[in-house]
Amino acid sequence: MTNVNLDNFSSAALAGSEYVLAPLPYADNALEPVISANTLSFHYGKHHKAYVDNLNKLVAGTEFAGQSLEEIIIATAGQADKAPIFNNAAQVWNHMFYWHSLSPNGGGEPSGALKEKIEAAFGSVDACKKEFATAALTQFGSGWAWLALDGDKITIAKTGNAGSPLTKNLRPLLTIDVWEHAYYLDYQNRRPDYVSAILDKLINWDFATANLG
Ligand code: MN
Repeated sequence: MTNVNLDNFSSAALAGSEYVLAPLPYADNALEPVISANTLSFHYGKHHKAYVDNLNKLVAGTEFAGQSLEEIIIATAGQADKAPIFNNAAQVWNHMFYWHSLSPNGGGEPSGALKEKIEAAFGSVDACKKEFATAALTQFGSGWAWLALDGDKITIAKTGNAGSPLTKNLRPLLTIDVWEHAYYLDYQNRRPDYVSAILDKLINWDFATANLG
């Protein structure tokens, strides 16, 4: 896991011209009790896998076959006739990014350059975490909350459905999946409890640091 960052992890999704379900960076019970093995096995083995399978079907024989996920996401964003390809490519990317945004040894505090950048932008780590949680809670319906770099400044963003910060000139550092399938088996409608447990116990500040570039 220590070698995982934005510059190399997405290549794990592509084998030749076929998209593959990249391995989880931990066992499916490793995030318990915050995220159960039951939730993780459905979320990864059914939802994430379905996006991979759908993407392979959608791009077969098209100009997009064999392109990186990032290339597809940028090329298809905002085009109604390409929405199914965008949605599945972005969901494959977002889920890979989400798995690495969590760690069995996560939570705690960021350090070093990341901590300095967070304090410069938000005043304190706690203020940053609070804004991250607010984005996750106020994303109406399905979507994602993000910690990201806007130029050299750390910011918080949220995207609906399969939305990707890559289309907004933001460099993602961390994400939280707030689709109901991410938490409903464990938390039912209590999205706030899911979000605060992730930020307290699983969020992977080391991954965010690696993504600073
Ligand atoms: Mn999901």
